[in-house]
Amino acid sequence: MIEVHGVVRRYRRHGAPALDGVDLELPAGRDLALVGSSGAGKSTLLRVLLGLEPADAGTVRVLGRPVAPGSARSLRWLRAAVGVVAQDAGSSLDPRWPVGRSVAEPLRLLDLPGDPAARVREVLTAVDVDPGAADRRPAAFSGGQRQRIALARALVHRPTLLVADELLSGADAVLRGHLLALLTGLGTQLLLVTHDLALAGALAGDVAVLAAGRVVEHGPAVDVLRAP
Ligand code: ADP
Ligand code: ADP
Repeated sequence: MIEVHGVVRRYRRHGAPALDGVDLELPAGRDLALVGSSGAGKSTLLRVLLGLEPADAGTVRVLGRPVAPGSARSLRWLRAAVGVVAQDAGSSLDPRWPVGRSVAEPLRLLDLPGDPAARVREVLTAVDVDPGAADRRPAAFSGGQRQRIALARALVHRPTLLVADELLSGADAVLRGHLLALLTGLGTQLLLVTHDLALAGALAGDVAVLAAGRVVEHGPAVDVLRAP
């Protein structure tokens, strides 16, 4: 479902590339936690996967289709198929808009049929945010609530794949447990970037370890996270 072969991404002419020949294959239905220390290339790999920046070499396919960063059609298709929750997602909600409008935005952009208001209520309920508060602006919510509202926006159009960068890093134990149960119960394939090995293990899927722009380990969490 995700196939990355020989991907190189270089920001500077000299010095180490951010991605240095990344190979990664993730079959449909397997959740993946992408781990690695700061600077390993995790965010760069996500941006390349999402078509937000080009690879200098190599190939990327997501859900069977090549990712073509220059192609509006390819990007539109990716937006429909993939939900994205960026790091610090809560602050990406437009402060001027009622949160319900932000959550509905992907439905409008993708011109999907159906009643947007009903779907917004449904998805806010799913992330444990009072749907009756959809007419309030982000400032009326706590940081954790804003993060969940951003998650609702990423899920509103029922993507096949959800990509999230450090989604749970700011959450307390209760919220994390709750979100983890929610995420794993969605039936949506997950690709989560995290520093947190306990979280990677709790997902109970695969773990890929990125170091200096390469995948150095990849396999079931129980194997990869076993103490050396
Ligand atoms: P991670 O997400 O694992 O912390 P990043 O993908 O952010 O790693 O960064 C990988 C390397 O690429 C780092 O050395 C970082 O400084 C560099 N890098 C990332 N984005 C850019 C950019 N836009 N311009 C220049 N260098 C970048
Ligand atoms: P993260 O590791 O979570 O991606 P970063 O600080 O690396 O956080 O990235 C935040 C933004 O800064 C990204 O858009 C990235 O492209 C950019 N960036 C990261 N490292 C560099 C760098 N060395 N030079 C220029 N831009 C960078």
